[in-house]
Amino acid sequence: MPQPVDYVFDLDPESLRERVLSWEMPAYRADQILDWVYGRHVINPLEMNNLSLRDREVLAQRLCFTRGRVVRHQSATDGTQKLLIEWNDARPPTAPNHSLAVVAGQPQTECVMIPAQDTTRSRRTACVSSQVGCPVGCRFCASGLGGLEGNLTAGQIVEQVWRLGMLSDLGRITNVVFMGMGEPLANFDQVARAVRTLMADWALGISGRKITISTVGLPAQIRRLAELDLPVTLAISLHAPNDEVRRRIIPWAEFVTMAQLLEAGRYYFERTGREITLEYVLLHAVNDRPEHARELAQVARELRSNINLIQFNEVPALPYQRPGDAEVRRFRDILAQAGVNVHIRASRGRDIAAACGQLRHEARV
Ligand code: SAH
Ligand code: SF4
Repeated sequence: MPQPVDYVFDLDPESLRERVLSWEMPAYRADQILDWVYGRHVINPLEMNNLSLRDREVLAQRLCFTRGRVVRHQSATDGTQKLLIEWNDARPPTAPNHSLAVVAGQPQTECVMIPAQDTTRSRRTACVSSQVGCPVGCRFCASGLGGLEGNLTAGQIVEQVWRLGMLSDLGRITNVVFMGMGEPLANFDQVARAVRTLMADWALGISGRKITISTVGLPAQIRRLAELDLPVTLAISLHAPNDEVRRRIIPWAEFVTMAQLLEAGRYYFERTGREITLEYVLLHAVNDRPEHARELAQVARELRSNINLIQFNEVPALPYQRPGDAEVRRFRDILAQAGVNVHIRASRGRDIAAACGQLRHEARV
């Protein structure tokens, strides 16, 4: 069986330099390779024409340039694009699993590129997965339906952003949100490493302020994240104004109370000075009543956080419904009148089931 080899998206310049020296290449090859991959989007070593032919051939044997293979690519009418990626072990490009055959049961995740234009600038947001499946199993979410199948490495997270950056001629990815499959703080070390690569000048150079980690809420990991002093935005998927409603839709709310979660959120805010966003997916007749909005306003004011209201994207086989537009606006108005900074998140890519976990779910049923 072929041995796993080093995977370029998992390496920083220092570790790549060590590798190239051990393959009897000059150290500066590492910078050339990173420039080809991140700067020019070239991943076939044989095309790296400022490297000697011998070095190109050695790289083709020794280094794995991509682990993902796009098995489905969908475009929505609003410009949103979604990739279903199948992951293989790290093997060199010449090894057999880089062939086109679909290998049954290989892990798959999805990621989405969302373009947006306002009057002054244009944004291209990459929405990435951090795990294969999800261990949490929120009742309204397609990602957790089959439980957790595994963690992605930092390189696999970075590869998603890299691939989404190639999808359009609109330009570079400007924003990254960890809102695809998986619970990012349950794969903490790899997510933190991926964030550093996304921010690095030698890689994608994305501003930390434009990277959002969305979590269902693991208090100890929220504190750890605060202590890393990464300048990222934290979004907490609250989805309920109190523990009773939260436990009905989020299984892990059995182990973590809202008080514990909000205390960790306060610590994050105090330590980083960065405002937290609370996410709230509106589910008809579950958490969308006026009294829920009033209770939620208290929570948001105490934490001095913003609220993003998310319109539920229907998932076949799940019993929840999307509230009507009038209910959504009423909910928003109650929060706004209570002095909370609240936005209704535009529902993008609905025609391609762009909510987390839906594409893989559809591909499998
Ligand atoms: N596990 C993390 C990040 C991935 S989920 C978290 O839960 O925050 C990203 C966001 O998508 C979460 O706020 C989640 O609640 C929301 N989401 C999941 N399924 C959805 C659906 N069917 N419609 C709308 N939003 C959904
Ligand atoms: Fe996992 Fe987030 Fe989906 Fe909940 S909403 S199952 S935490 S991905």
